[in-house]
Amino acid sequence: MTKLIPIRPEIRSLRAYRLEDDEPFPILAKLDFNESPDEVPEEIRAAVLERLKARRWRRYPEFGAPRLKRALAAAIGRSPDEIVVGNGSGETILAAVSVFAGGGTLVLAPPTFSLYGQIAAIASARIASVRRAGPDFAVDEAAFLAEAARGVPLLCLPNNPTGGVESSAFVEKLLDAAPVVLLDQAYVEFARPESDFTGLVGSRPNLVVFRTLSKAYAAAGFRIGYAVAPPDLAREIDKAVLPFNVDLAAEELALALLARPDSAKARVARVVSERERVAGALRSQGHAVVPSSANFLFMRPRGGDAAAVRQALREKGVLVRDMTSAAPGFLRVTIGSPAENDLFLSVLQEVS
Ligand code: PMP
Repeated sequence: MTKLIPIRPEIRSLRAYRLEDDEPFPILAKLDFNESPDEVPEEIRAAVLERLKARRWRRYPEFGAPRLKRALAAAIGRSPDEIVVGNGSGETILAAVSVFAGGGTLVLAPPTFSLYGQIAAIASARIASVRRAGPDFAVDEAAFLAEAARGVPLLCLPNNPTGGVESSAFVEKLLDAAPVVLLDQAYVEFARPESDFTGLVGSRPNLVVFRTLSKAYAAAGFRIGYAVAPPDLAREIDKAVLPFNVDLAAEELALALLARPDSAKARVARVVSERERVAGALRSQGHAVVPSSANFLFMRPRGGDAAAVRQALREKGVLVRDMTSAAPGFLRVTIGSPAENDLFLSVLQEVS
């Protein structure tokens, strides 16, 4: 007799993550993953490799990653007992959703980060969606507040893929309305300082903020992210991540990057200035561009056939994200190096 293999239906119904077929064309500009346009500086790479050689590879990392927590906390003016470290911030979001919304309801404002759907399925959380609307894809504040009172809101700010931010007045109202608020600030370094809500953690006992070294710090290959929460909540979130989740190499890189914040600051300034240049150029070519506070642009190419434009760009070696399934007609384009951005603009002019 064949036994029924118990696969949870919410997992079975997820679409398996599938990589694109091999790119048939040489890739000239990779603008589809919101990665940094430049590498970690050579002297930091060399220093990390030296430090790594001196570590004992057969031993587990230090339990609870105290050095890393101290360095992350110092970088944002917080205390180490407010930090939960993760193998990328995605891991800490999964942990927090499991703790606060597992088996319950997660309130989202789509279009938003697609990983949240997978995280909800893993944590057996139902999703309550309040769709963004209008030319800027702003959150429907009244509807979101009403849902947030009945579930656990997870708000991406700046939002991936639309790039916008909500006001601090709205975030304050959300903190009043919801039992706990999860705020994903993966792109916060690219936004104006008033959109950084990390400073509210603690004075607001129900706020959890997620941040990452994958974007502004150019460390996506090493998987370092973290949650910032009041100590009593941080302790609970920490129970939902497995021990030793950040390995020696990621820890050494994080320590080196956090010791030289000027390098990340300069990168962010370059990206922000390129973002505004590219947005202006796109608008003058006749494309619709949503105002962005992140390292990418959400745009509707003139003519509105995002899938065809994305494919035509791809054939010329420029990779961007087709967001048709989230918002018909839209593309998400990461800000690359000036040369990559120029190539994108000139190829787009040709193909659209
Ligand atoms: N949140 C958002 C909104 C993201 O776009 C991403 C990565 N694309 C993440 C979290 C996860 O980042 P990481 O796991 O690399 O820290």
